[in-house]
Amino acid sequence: MPAKYHIQTHPEPPRHKPIGKYCIIDWREDCSACHNCVKRECAYSVYNDERDRLQHIAEDYVEYLYECKGCLCCVQSCTKGLLTQQVNPEYLAMGDDVWTADIISSTWFQAETGKIPVSGAGYPGPFRGPGFDSILTDMSEIVRPTRDGIHGREYISTHVDVGRKPMKLEFNADGTLKTDFPTQVEIPLPVIFNMMPWHSPSAKVSQAILDAANELGTFVITDDPMLTANDAAMPHISKDAKSEPAISRLAQWNDCPGVMDKIKAAKSSNPSLVAIVRLPLESVGRAVELVKAGADGLHAYADWEGAAGNGKHISIAVRDLHHALIAAGVRDQVTLFASGGISLAEHVIKTLLCGADAICVDVPLMIALECRVCKNCTQGIKCPIGLADVDHDYAVHRIVNLMGAWHSQMLEMMGAMGIREARRLRGEAGRAMFFDDLERDCFAPVFGKRVEVK
Ligand code: SF4
Ligand code: SF4
Ligand code: SF4
Repeated sequence: MPAKYHIQTHPEPPRHKPIGKYCIIDWREDCSACHNCVKRECAYSVYNDERDRLQHIAEDYVEYLYECKGCLCCVQSCTKGLLTQQVNPEYLAMGDDVWTADIISSTWFQAETGKIPVSGAGYPGPFRGPGFDSILTDMSEIVRPTRDGIHGREYISTHVDVGRKPMKLEFNADGTLKTDFPTQVEIPLPVIFNMMPWHSPSAKVSQAILDAANELGTFVITDDPMLTANDAAMPHISKDAKSEPAISRLAQWNDCPGVMDKIKAAKSSNPSLVAIVRLPLESVGRAVELVKAGADGLHAYADWEGAAGNGKHISIAVRDLHHALIAAGVRDQVTLFASGGISLAEHVIKTLLCGADAICVDVPLMIALECRVCKNCTQGIKCPIGLADVDHDYAVHRIVNLMGAWHSQMLEMMGAMGIREARRLRGEAGRAMFFDDLERDCFAPVFGKRVEVK
């Protein structure tokens, strides 16, 4: 049995004070200094951890505690009712509708600790929403993790294969294999690192992303000629590029007329190269054509908010593409990557359930380095956290921590779904419930058509 894949995480504190969700406002006036102060009972040691910082805040004013999980224990139990909980207005202003403040904050926590995020106040939100929130996973077939922990004896593998697969094996008369088996590259996570959607990272950040990918055993898509010689690099070749990736194991071409001829030329000097073609997620007919022409893999992309060119959410567009490849009888031959708007570990699993083999992640790598998705950098305005100038080890640890936390959550979800192999997640729609389908098939016959309330 192969060695278990394990991601070693190390706590890596933030460089800047994170913007927290809950503020506990502590009106110190009239504090009775009782012996059983509720602050000592905080399960998350918020007051202990904050002690140093609070010493530098004016004594007679409110105190904002950014690590508070909102369990309300201290607010309810203070004998004098001195504590009040508020939602931090700076937090509410962070991010946008897709890259929400909750996603940014939870990503910071994961990058700092390498742990699965928890919420002390339970889940307060709705049970369905747009995009990935309209997919529920079926957690009804639990394997060992509940008894043995997610890193216990029962091995749940997150490895996937990248490359073209033959549909049959042929043998010579003497029993030896006749089929020329195409190159397969195994990655231990169904995740590779994408190019950034709104700007190229600085040389320091790019190097850190590459080194984190090396540590994790995955790949980075890059068009930086200084980085393409690295083992973890997956060169991106634009339609105007003159040179071919001579030494890489994986490479990605932008779709263009004659792209398969370019790939053929590259493979003549590097026969073990696995060639991926990048194309818009909605280009279903073209995707089928490329697989029939011999592409080893496809990278189908939505925009960075998860919308395909036809307006469909990435989850629906991936299902359409997966089904089209099945209908054409070519789905098993090709590796399908999907990218755009994937911000949480659960999105990785859900994209695979919709039909992808693996995903490409981008913005969360920046958020791991404390990016606030303010988009100042797109307008030439100064970055509030100086992201371009990060320390190398800090950046590598934070990215590895984030992937460690995602890996743990993938194991939890797969364990609860009764799936021990990430390879089996592809298109496994029987483990997912799509709210729109449920509503159409179950509720519509009883309650009629949904009316959107404005
Ligand atoms: S429980 Fe309330 S009143 Fe008592 S010491 Fe703590 S903050 Fe002051
Ligand atoms: S609300 Fe809960 S988590 Fe927040 S400071 Fe009070 S006891 Fe700690
Ligand atoms: S300016 Fe800095 S914090 Fe804001 S989006 Fe750009 S990199 Fe992120």
